[in-house]
Amino acid sequence: MKQSYFKERNKCPGCHSESYKEIYESSYTETPIKDYLIDFYDPQGGVEFEYLEGEKYSLGECSFCGMIFQKFIPGDELMKRLYEVWIDPELARMDENRSHDFDFYSDYALELLQILSHFKNNPDEIEVFDFGMGWSKWLFMARAFGCVPYGSELSKERIDYAKSNGINVLSWDQIPDYSFDFINTEQVFEHISDPLETLQYLKQSLKPGGFLKVSVPPSGDIDARLRIMNWQAKKGTRKSLNAVAPLEHINCFKRDSIIEMGKIAGLKEVHFSLKSQYKYYFGWALNKKSIIKMLRPIFRNVLKRENYVLFSNQ
Ligand SMILES: [Zn+2]
Repeated sequence: MKQSYFKERNKCPGCHSESYKEIYESSYTETPIKDYLIDFYDPQGGVEFEYLEGEKYSLGECSFCGMIFQKFIPGDELMKRLYEVWIDPELARMDENRSHDFDFYSDYALELLQILSHFKNNPDEIEVFDFGMGWSKWLFMARAFGCVPYGSELSKERIDYAKSNGINVLSWDQIPDYSFDFINTEQVFEHISDPLETLQYLKQSLKPGGFLKVSVPPSGDIDARLRIMNWQAKKGTRKSLNAVAPLEHINCFKRDSIIEMGKIAGLKEVHFSLKSQYKYYFGWALNKKSIIKMLRPIFRNVLKRENYVLFSNQ
């Protein structure tokens, strides 16, 4: 039998319900998924199709929490190939650096102001943990506010970079030995094979009264996009299927699926008041971007349109 680089998930990875329906299936080595992969990965490094021979891209939709998930996901070996070869780390870093503009840093600063203002302690007594810290940018900002920064990562380059810049880097096994006031996960949960188990594991390291953030790509109109199924639509455009990107965005959370996953893990959603979110708002430049930013607390609290959820264990 041919070796498979994939593993199968037979229940919803967010709520563990075994009741789901299969909503889409297509071979990785035929149109349209094959063409999508070539278009998407060629500029980043390139696909090795021998790893995908005989495998299917298959989407399931959970009947309980509504999460849409990829049923067959890369095993450890393929995952490594994907993030270290198909996506060339050097190209990825250059690409990421280009996106680190003024807005990027001001968003981090604003988010930290809003979060830290909810603690009674001074910032230098607050321990923060960024799970999947990337190039440590969020942690550098947290440290600038006085917080004690901890992070974790899979990629060796990013770990070395963090260590050489004074970040406390933890391995997966070390996480339970620590406890944190704030645990940050930004664009991480859509990539991991066992999100519920991961959330349960992280929750053990949350201090009483601490906060844990889950922020994943928006999926508000994913049902409409899946009806159109346009694999040529570029990332960021109206019909883009980026929220279910083959091999990478293996979990597409609806807002309700995040809340449900939290409930199972013993966490409940908390809202920071609109007043406290606007208290530190800055950047009143009147352009399209800043108006969207200005409305963000309303999208979050009132319209519940963002896939950004804060949890507390109390
Ligand atoms: Zn579910």
